[in-house]
Amino acid sequence: MIVSVLTSIGVEALNKTFSYVVPEHLKEKAKVGCRVLIPFGPQRLEGFILKIDNKSVDEFEYKLKNIIDVVDDFPVLNNELLNLGEYISKTTFCTLINAYQVMLPTALKAKEKNNISIKTKSYISLNQKINIIKEYINNNQRSKRQIELLESLLKNDKLEKSLFDSAVVKTLVEKDLIKVIIEEVYRFKNNVIKENKKIVLTEKQQEIANEIIDNLNNDITYLLYGVTGSGKTEVYIEVIKKVIEDNKQVIMLVPEISLTPQMVNRFTNVFGDKIAVLHSGLSNGEKYDEYRKILNDEVDIVIGARSAIFAPFKKLGAIIIDEEHTSSYKQDNHPRYHAIDIAKVRSKTHSCPLILGSATPSLESYARAKKGVYKLLELKTRVGKSKLPIVKIVDMKDEIKQGNSTFSKELSKDIKDRLEKGEQIILLLNRRGYSTFVTCKDCGFTHKCPNCDISLTYHKTTNTMRCHYCGYGDKMLYTCPECGGRELKNLGTGTQKIEEELNLLYPNARIIRMDVDTTSKKGSHEKIINDFKQEKYDILLGTQMIAKGLDFPKVTLVGVINADTSLNIPDFRSGERTFELLSQVAGRAGRSDMEGKVVIQTYNPEHYSINYTRSHDYEAFYQREMFIRKQMSYPPYYYITLVRILSKDYVKGMEESRKISDYLKKHLNNDTIVLGPTTSIMYKINNVYRYQCIIKYKKDDKLNDTLIKIINHYKINKNINVEIDNNPNKL
Ligand code: ADP
Ligand code: ZN
Repeated sequence: MIVSVLTSIGVEALNKTFSYVVPEHLKEKAKVGCRVLIPFGPQRLEGFILKIDNKSVDEFEYKLKNIIDVVDDFPVLNNELLNLGEYISKTTFCTLINAYQVMLPTALKAKEKNNISIKTKSYISLNQKINIIKEYINNNQRSKRQIELLESLLKNDKLEKSLFDSAVVKTLVEKDLIKVIIEEVYRFKNNVIKENKKIVLTEKQQEIANEIIDNLNNDITYLLYGVTGSGKTEVYIEVIKKVIEDNKQVIMLVPEISLTPQMVNRFTNVFGDKIAVLHSGLSNGEKYDEYRKILNDEVDIVIGARSAIFAPFKKLGAIIIDEEHTSSYKQDNHPRYHAIDIAKVRSKTHSCPLILGSATPSLESYARAKKGVYKLLELKTRVGKSKLPIVKIVDMKDEIKQGNSTFSKELSKDIKDRLEKGEQIILLLNRRGYSTFVTCKDCGFTHKCPNCDISLTYHKTTNTMRCHYCGYGDKMLYTCPECGGRELKNLGTGTQKIEEELNLLYPNARIIRMDVDTTSKKGSHEKIINDFKQEKYDILLGTQMIAKGLDFPKVTLVGVINADTSLNIPDFRSGERTFELLSQVAGRAGRSDMEGKVVIQTYNPEHYSINYTRSHDYEAFYQREMFIRKQMSYPPYYYITLVRILSKDYVKGMEESRKISDYLKKHLNNDTIVLGPTTSIMYKINNVYRYQCIIKYKKDDKLNDTLIKIINHYKINKNINVEIDNNPNKL
């Protein structure tokens, strides 16, 4: 038997299969989709069997080698995943092996050193009839420890082996009186808090759920556009109940940061333990276990972040993507796939619905819904007595004149008021494109990373400056290396600094901070959220990660300390991202019957992205933003593909980028726009220079072939790397 094997080496030049012979004793095990161990030059590698060949050894011009071993007892890549891999490889221009690896948990990837194993527990149980055991006990009264063990087993079916002395266990096993049973155990355990929520759907929720339920066997894409707190989750739950009744399974994607016990808890309370959870907070072992629950048909639902879209369910009944506008649903590095694209393919394969939910849909999705490509479902009001909060916009230009640089008069007053009433507060520091950098007041020198040319960020705990791109670290400067000036200033405000200010202003307030620094330890994210929910704290201060999905009924005030920073990023989506962020964080206020208020501090009070959050007017924002997108030929009017050129050599990089740009201009359709080459915003990362060309097109049947030609041209060039990013998150 001859098989085609795709090796674990992910370079373009080796993006093909190699033939191997399967020796007689491995024939039974060697199936398509299984991992195998192969000799490859002087190394041993793992790879996937992609095909069983009908050819015989003589038909090859060279001598084939034998595979060394088959790693799996069952194919880790089933047919659907094998096809999906091809789709990803084609659409994101990555190697096939990269596509397969991204779909699997670490434990099942093809790689040479994998020490993630199945965890087991050993038990003992009786291996003879009760009368025989009793007889043995009577005849051996002096062996006290043996008798003790046997008597325990007479009372219990099985007991953990580790509870007993191993010599005693061994003796009894040898006498055939007891046996050892080894069982697989799962590492991950949810700490479930019982809820006594009995929810009756509102008329509108029920109507929407019914519409989806009545069409469960069609690959329709729905956009569930519902304001914050409108009860989208309950609609999902209603649909899922029906899917499970039909003996099918559900994938539910939520943004990484919403994967809090809150969501999992809600689901566990409704669906019991038939749920697998997949997110980056789990260890590789835990992820493997959760994945095995899916493989072993032990769960009906997987709740997870982006990569859970690959959950190998055999009978998918629905795919739900909550907060569909979230940019992390697209992978930022190779392979740059978007979970929504994968979901569409799977929804077609399984003839099941795809439900996209959001209070602030991406412009692309909302435009598609308006055109009828997606079916639009709307929840326009919050559930029950809860109303959308009042939003106040404060002009910080005026405040600065009065000496209030961090907290405006209004926000300070409101914080004090809520603290007195015992209500809770969320404060958002908008950190996107923002950092605490050090600048010399005399000459303007900025302390930058020598590898990446971006400002270093000050870290108070270690008193160092760090680069957020490459990790470079340097000590804090007190004199300017350029002019010797001693007026180095810490510009920008970090969460730590704000926490200190809050402590001074409100010495009795209990403040908890949530940012990258306080959530790096496993489980810390959950703990902060649980503690805040249980009202151990009055103020939750944090970055973007507190903006979405959280449901704290006691929060009546949300303050945005600096709304503008995300507006200043040079990217065509910065307006959309700012509106989305402000709307989402505003949505955390007043979610129960207490009225909510939001105070947004800004230097650009007239900007439409900020202004429309006042009236919660997504529709108006959408119209305005679409107008600009049309003027500028941006998505959703045009598609964008980014070609990025990477080189350690500044001049060569630029030269090749020019050639690529010329080639594109020559070979693409006339109405396709090619911009560049330019240097990227992050023009140097880790000593590699970055250039880019931007392609804007409506429809271009030559694009794919042209890009493939470029990739092939550079695939063996050691000095130039070319990356393609379709529909990039950032330009
Ligand atoms: P969304 O996801 O749209 O922001 P959620 O699904 O989190 O909103 O719902 C907001 C709150 O309203 C939650 O606390 C939820 O339990 C509650 N809720 C949702 N639907 C109902 C209902 N029909 N009756 C009572 N409470 C509901
Ligand atoms: Zn750096």
